[in-house]
Formats: sequence, C-alpha cells, structure tokens
Amino acid sequence: MTKEKLALAIIERMKKEYPDAGCTLDYNQAWKLLVSVRLAAQCTDARVNVVVQDLYARFPDVASLAEAPVEEIEAIVKPCGLGRSKARDISGCMKIIQEEYEGKVPDDFDALLKLPGVGRKSANLIMGDVFGKPAIVTDTHCIRLVNRMGLVDGVKDPKKVEMALWKLIPPEEGSDFCHRLVYHGRDVCTARTSPHCDKCCVSDLCGKNI
Ligand code: SF4
Repeated sequence: MTKEKLALAIIERMKKEYPDAGCTLDYNQAWKLLVSVRLAAQCTDARVNVVVQDLYARFPDVASLAEAPVEEIEAIVKPCGLGRSKARDISGCMKIIQEEYEGKVPDDFDALLKLPGVGRKSANLIMGDVFGKPAIVTDTHCIRLVNRMGLVDGVKDPKKVEMALWKLIPPEEGSDFCHRLVYHGRDVCTARTSPHCDKCCVSDLCGKNI
C-alpha cells in the first residue's frame, strides 16, 4: 500500500474510533488558546486548564494581560513549569496582539510564527482550531505514532514530519487527524509502556515500527 493510501485508511479508522476528538486545552477565545499553548510546553493540558482560570480571573482580556507585570504573570503560571520564560512570552505576545493587531490574534501562519514563544506546532494548532484552516500539528504523539504506523520512516524532526504529512494527508483532515493521534497516543499507542497493539483500531494497517 502506498503511504498516501495508508494515510487515508488510517484517517478513516481514526474518525470512527475518536469521532469527537478535539483540542484538550479549554478556551473560548483565540488569545486564550495562544496563552494555553505556551503554558502547555512540558506540562499537561489538564494542569494548564486549571492554571489559566487563575490567570483570567486576574487578567480577563488581552489589554489587561498586555499591561500586566511579567512577575505577576509568572507567579500565577509557575505551576506549569518554566514560569519565567512562559510569562515573558505571554506578555510579549499580548503586547504585540494589542499594539499591532487591535487585540485580535492574526489568522496568518507567518504572523503567528513571529509571536514570542510560538513555533510551528502552536501556529498550526491555532490555524486549525481557531480559524478552521488546514493544519498539521506535530506534537510528540503525532511524531511517535506516524513513525510507528509507517507514514514516515525514522523522521523525528517536527518540521520534517509536518512537511511529510502535508504530502499524505488531505488538508481539511489534518487538524482533526492530529487531535485523534493525541487521543490514540495517550490511550493505546503509548510512549511509556509498550503500545497496546492488541486493542488498536489500526493494528492491521500499522507498520508497527516500535
Ligand atoms: S498497532 Fe501498535 S504501534 Fe501501531 S498504532 Fe496501534 S498501538 Fe501503535
């Protein structure tokens, strides 16, 4: 089977297995996803979802967060780890959004990439989830799973994986597929234990490159 056909077959299986898979970070406005994505580096989404409640209680909008002292942001986001750099990036992001984009997150991939602390993974997540645009989010689950499945061969660099997947996955499927990989990676094709291939919905398709 070609990699293109394999990708389409896996996408269909994943749709059936995880019909409602979506972003596990809670947000109701674009700027909040930007904040949460930065906090989620080396932290669980569950913890981020708790910490941001304190942050938004104190700073409820882009303008107030843009003006907030970095030390105050740091004190609140510290439980997510890397408090200083995350606070600095969040502050920098909110300032730019407030000053250059009238308080609105830009719906432009390259503009997002220029924001402090925003890499391709985060920019893709925002393009896909907030703006409904084509997106490939190559997080740790995605990279591990597409290698195991045989969609890429020994490619670990996030950007290279992203570029390889753009050639295999229909653009409109990318965002949801990556969310489903996260669910599958947490529950079945796990990182810290042996993958549970016996209860995997793509077991007959997968290259099992473990
Ligand atoms: S068959 Fe095994 S290695 Fe392949 S995706 Fe499923 S759990 Fe992962």
